[in-house]
Amino acid sequence: MTTLEALFVVLALFQVILAISWGLSASLLGLSRAAGLHWAISCLFVLLSLLLALALPWSPLAPTLLVALTNTSTMIAFLAMRRGAQIFLRQPRRDGEMALLLALVLLLGLGDLALGLDVRVRGMLMSGLLCWTGLRLSFSSAAKVRSEFGLVATGLVTGPMFAVALVFGLRSAYLALGPVPESSAQLTAPTELNVWLMLAFFVLSALLNLSLGYMVLLRLVRRLNHVSRHDALTGLLNRRAMQEALDAEFHRWQRKQESFALLLIDVDHFKRVNDQHGHAVGDLALCAVSRCLAGAVRKTDVLSRFGGEEFCVLLRLTDGPGAIELAQRLNQAVRDQALVAGELSLPLTVSIGIAVAREGVLTRVEKLLLGADRALYRAKAEGRDRLAVASLTEMSESGFSPMGA
Ligand code: GH3
Ligand code: MG
Ligand code: MG
Repeated sequence: MTTLEALFVVLALFQVILAISWGLSASLLGLSRAAGLHWAISCLFVLLSLLLALALPWSPLAPTLLVALTNTSTMIAFLAMRRGAQIFLRQPRRDGEMALLLALVLLLGLGDLALGLDVRVRGMLMSGLLCWTGLRLSFSSAAKVRSEFGLVATGLVTGPMFAVALVFGLRSAYLALGPVPESSAQLTAPTELNVWLMLAFFVLSALLNLSLGYMVLLRLVRRLNHVSRHDALTGLLNRRAMQEALDAEFHRWQRKQESFALLLIDVDHFKRVNDQHGHAVGDLALCAVSRCLAGAVRKTDVLSRFGGEEFCVLLRLTDGPGAIELAQRLNQAVRDQALVAGELSLPLTVSIGIAVAREGVLTRVEKLLLGADRALYRAKAEGRDRLAVASLTEMSESGFSPMGA
């Protein structure tokens, strides 16, 4: 076995591993299943191309037919890779353009079978088509990768795609311009250049698949991060995310003593909504309240669903009067909106507990939560649909038990 043949075999085995990996990740991760399957198919077609190329010396089939099949299989591999990327990046698919490229490769094969093209011309045209496909893959993905994953990821992902296109482009130019003897123009000819080319394909194949895997992993991590910080029903930040924002704001307050405030908001008599109209309407009502609050808070405020029918707002750079003004606006906004579910119109109201981080009195952020909770109880006791501001005593009492759902 020559070095070149050994490289063909190694690359073929590598494609088997890649195809299995993409197949497994598509079915196990459930993420971008269609894209993963396209990439698995792409690897299988690269494998087929390599096997067909290896079979060239012994196959009973006419060499031109075998080369035509190899080229077609390679183009399908490229197109499957590109289509997978389009699906993954949610880009419009360009099946027309892909069909045209495939038709050109088939035409090249038929022309070769009918006319017996010069090996150099055939190689130059085929490499040119693969270069074009690689360039389209690289450039058409760049903007979308950049907007979703950032600049560094764009370089990492589109770089290998571009490099593959470049290698085929150089080969095409070399065959067009260089003094290449016909016997060494084919990729399977045991020349030193072809050994280097095969090595380059091996490295690029690894990098290309790694970069696609990196993109999948990035999206997975971001999705997990999003899920772990957001509430599934309302889409608002959840309690964990609010706790992080509160801790960060508390540390800023300790350094700069810039006043901030916290609102605990609880929907009044919400149990009645569930009891009278069912849980599904209750869910709709919670979403309506969350939309209403989100529409009424300022851009710098952090709104979260704290649990059950309770919401929490962190008001940055806000003093007592500012917090009261915003809470009044929230009371009004919820009061003014009637949830409409089918023929039903539900008047809802909220009670709000306010706690303000004043200079020097706050030793732990939990005291603020405690104060807002106590004030909320008071607002409930005083008749609901109103606000109450935590006193210093309410903030210094020990123990925190936010109202349960
Ligand atoms: P109050 O004015 O004193 O706050 O009365 P309330 O009825 O709102 O308070 P209570 O704590 O008794 O009831 C809260 C209800 O909120 C009970 C629970 O079933 C409901 N709830 C909590 N989370 C959800 C949810 O995700 N969806 C629905 N539909 N209901 C929820
Ligand atoms: Mg309630
Ligand atoms: Mg409650």
